[in-house]
Amino acid sequence: MPEFDANRFRPDSAANFIGGRKIEGRGRMFEVLRPSDGVLLAPLLAADAAQLDEAVADAAAAQKRSCWGTMEPRGRMRLLRRWAELIEGDTDWLAPLEAVGSTRTLAEIRAWDIPYTAECIRFFAEFADKHGGEVGATTPDKLGFTLTEPFGVVAAIAPWNLPLVMAAWKIAPALAAGNAVVLKPSELTPFSVVRLAELAIEAGMPAGIFNIVQGGGADIGDALVRADAIGKVSFTGSTRTGRAIMAACAETGPKPVTLELGGKSPQIVFGDADLDKAGAIVAKAITLNAGQVCVAGSRLLVHESVAEPVIDRIVRAFAAHRIGETWNSDTTMGPIVSERQLETIDGMVSRALAGGAEALAGGGRAASPQRGSYYAPTLLAGVAQNDEAVQGEIFGPVLTVQTFADEKEAFALANGTRYGLAAGVHTSDVARALRATRELQAGTIWVNRYGRSDDFILPTGGYKESGIGKDLGREAYLANCKGKTALIQF
Ligand code: NAD
Repeated sequence: MPEFDANRFRPDSAANFIGGRKIEGRGRMFEVLRPSDGVLLAPLLAADAAQLDEAVADAAAAQKRSCWGTMEPRGRMRLLRRWAELIEGDTDWLAPLEAVGSTRTLAEIRAWDIPYTAECIRFFAEFADKHGGEVGATTPDKLGFTLTEPFGVVAAIAPWNLPLVMAAWKIAPALAAGNAVVLKPSELTPFSVVRLAELAIEAGMPAGIFNIVQGGGADIGDALVRADAIGKVSFTGSTRTGRAIMAACAETGPKPVTLELGGKSPQIVFGDADLDKAGAIVAKAITLNAGQVCVAGSRLLVHESVAEPVIDRIVRAFAAHRIGETWNSDTTMGPIVSERQLETIDGMVSRALAGGAEALAGGGRAASPQRGSYYAPTLLAGVAQNDEAVQGEIFGPVLTVQTFADEKEAFALANGTRYGLAAGVHTSDVARALRATRELQAGTIWVNRYGRSDDFILPTGGYKESGIGKDLGREAYLANCKGKTALIQF
């Protein structure tokens, strides 16, 4: 097989997509680096304020002009399905482009990110003609019913950790519900979504229905949220940014907002669990995408009777990882997205070690490769519930371990952070599993597994500081529709 040439995948810096075409930004210039080796991928010319206004105005006009929201619903559905086909058919270009510019490995992108992105679009496309309002039970002298309508223009703001997939979660339900979308991807991973926009046009989507503006969060992201014509905001990212976006929505609306935020999710292993399975699952749940996953299972809570064998399995699984460039076919764990993010991770680990924690694995930068930002899978013991390492989102391959004596203590430790995104439970006791689904304060509970499936009908979202509202499922489609009530007197 010929050697992979990362330099071949040089995206165009004219990476804004407004009114159906690529447009060179007139705003700030960002140097986008390849996470795998720190080499300049491409300069990015962000949109300026006038271009942002133009994108939003253009989207609002296109949504009306093209009748996107009122066209034959099955026509919208067919078009979105065609788009999904084109995305899958573009794998040979899209997968390397995503791999070179992000932390996702080429193998994962081919096997999962691209098929998942396409299927997510298909899933929401099917809602276009399958959801209507309902007739209410009124007295017989009148007829009352509800209607759903698109908001008009939805602002979608995405993070860098799974650039295509996170964008699809936002844009697919919004477009299927008849809205136009203006997407602002992360300034760290701006390029692959532009290819999605080009393919949307190729599929026949009217120009201006799906737009991309590039830029930083505090300027372009904030201005997008605040723009007058934005009817709804859909955000995935950190809790801190989520708060700022909610405040901006309140000040300029109030505008409805969906917030998918950070997490510090526990994985609980009881003494009656299948330890081989649990050990493998726990290790994978914190090393997938080098821990840069919102639902990363970053806290191991293990019954004291099985702590030693479970820890032993995890340490061995960590040691078996082959850390390397995303495009390397034997890489099992890729890089951290940036040197800055690596320093944040390392700062939290160093403070934990200085405070008395012990690294049973890792504890610092990975020894190789030499270039790029790589962190060793790390297991921290000797931590207490109130420690920063247990409470704060590290967003890297760092797992803390605490032991418990009984179920009550396990659930209390699991619930004892400000976050509530997901939780995993490993047990062979069905009653305990069912109790856990009631007791754990998180938006998603996994039993004897950890991680999402391809069941798009299951919504995802956070409790507590992990968010408001849901992505995926029927809920995400409905969150992109306005509801209207009509009452007719006979
Ligand atoms: P981030 O909050 O720093 O940035 C996310 C996006 O928001 C970026 O596009 C950024 O430019 C933009 N932004 C920043 N400030 C803004 C502002 N004031 N107004 C508007 N936009 C602004 O997050 P990140 O570092 O890109 O991503 C990692 C975080 O995302 C983690 O906390 C992770 O848990 C979370 N995340 C959550 C989910 C979920 O489903 N709950 C999924 C993936 C990632």
